[in-house]
Amino acid sequence: MISTDVLVIGAGLAGLTLAQQLKCQGRDVVCVDKARGSGGRLSSKRIDINDYAVSFDLGALSFSAQSPSFQQAVNDWCEQGHLIKWLEHDDHAQYIGSPRSSSLTRSLADEVGVHFSVRISAIVKIENGWQIFCEGNEKEVLYAYANEIVLACPAPQAYELIPSEHKLKTQLEGVSIFPQWVATFALAKPISINDFCLNPNENIAKISYENSKPARNNDHNLHVYCVQASVLWSQARLDYSKDKVIYELADELSKLCTEPLLIKGDYAHRWLYSNGTNYSDSQAGFIATDDLSLCGDYLMTNDLIDGVEAAYLSGQALAKHKSQLRSLLTVGD
Ligand SMILES: Cc1cc2nc3c(=O)[nH]c(=O)nc-3n(C[C@H](O)[C@H](O)[C@H](O)COP(=O)(O)OP(=O)(O)OC[C@H]3O[C@@H](n4cnc5c(N)ncnc54)[C@H](O)[C@@H]3O)c2cc1C
Repeated sequence: MISTDVLVIGAGLAGLTLAQQLKCQGRDVVCVDKARGSGGRLSSKRIDINDYAVSFDLGALSFSAQSPSFQQAVNDWCEQGHLIKWLEHDDHAQYIGSPRSSSLTRSLADEVGVHFSVRISAIVKIENGWQIFCEGNEKEVLYAYANEIVLACPAPQAYELIPSEHKLKTQLEGVSIFPQWVATFALAKPISINDFCLNPNENIAKISYENSKPARNNDHNLHVYCVQASVLWSQARLDYSKDKVIYELADELSKLCTEPLLIKGDYAHRWLYSNGTNYSDSQAGFIATDDLSLCGDYLMTNDLIDGVEAAYLSGQALAKHKSQLRSLLTVGD
């Protein structure tokens, strides 16, 4: 049975940043994730086409840095070889994981020592802490005891876990994160489209030509394009089958170029929680009580900052808050 000081639920960039910084502060931390690997919405996907492995970014296709604090972290990660600059867009460098999207979170996860394939199903308040339950083979099992819990997952997933009597429950009521359909097409021949397209029309939010990303393996000789639908397009088609989404997004892509699409392989994924939120009170960038706290991109999102940067800054802000709190308590002793 695991017994820890802090249990962090979610090994995306927010949870990993927090867990790593709490460890540096000397705290006993356990971080868990329901997925088999790290990254959350920064993950990549590998599919086999014609006996070749084709990898591409499934979540964020790239990201930029607006704040000095995140730019510093990005510079450090570039130096360590976990990130690489891809291209410039609107005077901002776009960064990608190197050699794959999840490289950064994988290295953080190695430092933190994440317990993967653990889906937390309930947290129950007890005297002096929490009991944490996870999904077992047939029934829910008691997984850990912790003094404090941090929910570092999208707001609707955090909401599900917060006990109904806890004061944080009402704060997350109605908070949503927008959904997004994405499709990837592996083509026999390249098409005449920019390596990175932002909002080329009202139905498409982004397109990336994955072959143009540096330090990636393109041995497959295919031309891989990731197409991310707009939020409105996705919301109107949430219950579509993957085949139907692939058909419609291929049609959208073909309208943006002059050549026919010679599709050799494709893949579609529906992100129920993607990027962007209706949460508007992002002053601190996290929510903390004595025994239960929240961090994640949606808590730090504002007019300037969102996505990957918001996730990092939220984890960092909560770690700093916890450190300051402990200093105050130590002085109080
Ligand atoms: C399609 C798409 C495109 C995007 N494009 C961009 C972009 O261009 N630029 C940008 O900056 N950002 C973009 N983003 C957003 C960016 O990827 C996210 O903002 C960021 O990665 C969120 O990090 P996070 O740590 O807050 O959450 P997440 O990465 O979602 O991490 C949460 C983790 O919690 C885990 N979890 C949830 N519930 C449980 C449970 N019950 N038990 C255990 N584990 C659990 C999940 O498995 C997940 O790994 C995009 C995202 C998507 C999906």
